[in-house]
Amino acid sequence: MDSNILLLTPSTDQLPDLVNLTKQLQEIGFISDPFQFEGRQHYQPGEALMIHLTFLGCSPVVSLGEPGKTGDEFCHIEFYGPFDEKQFISGSNVKPLRCPVCGHRETAWQPIIDAWKRDRTPWHCPSCENDISLEQLRWNKSAGFGRFFIKVWGIFESEAVPGDKLLATLRGTTDTPWDYFYFRGESF
Ligand SMILES: [Zn+2]
Repeated sequence: MDSNILLLTPSTDQLPDLVNLTKQLQEIGFISDPFQFEGRQHYQPGEALMIHLTFLGCSPVVSLGEPGKTGDEFCHIEFYGPFDEKQFISGSNVKPLRCPVCGHRETAWQPIIDAWKRDRTPWHCPSCENDISLEQLRWNKSAGFGRFFIKVWGIFESEAVPGDKLLATLRGTTDTPWDYFYFRGESF
């Protein structure tokens, strides 16, 4: 079964101090206590999680229950990283790519992404013949690069966006703004 994850990441290489980040997110009620999930440390949602995420539909399907009791889409939070190298996170929900030079639209993106993940092979645009680094592309919140991520499990693509206070709190931990995007696919 696919996982649906909202990812938050600093927009620069700046990394947060994890002790401070945990404290700040607990103080605003975004996360609560840590627990072990599939061998890794995750956090229970805090009591104000639903305030810090702005749901765009009328009936959010997010579940705040216990793991194992409410199916795979229960909401929990995990820190992912930091990594020495920039990571590229993408799932099955990637949108057609658009060449930043000539505007060529490419729907067959899977082999392009596979080649990038294998050995950083750039995308050779068939229209303008330029080699394009995947870091140059606009991903429209369907994939992203970063050295550290906060994974919010159980949030479907475009179902909810991070609220102002959450983004301000995150910005305060790195002195840089944070971006966000959505992942759908196999758990990682
Ligand atoms: Zn092109």
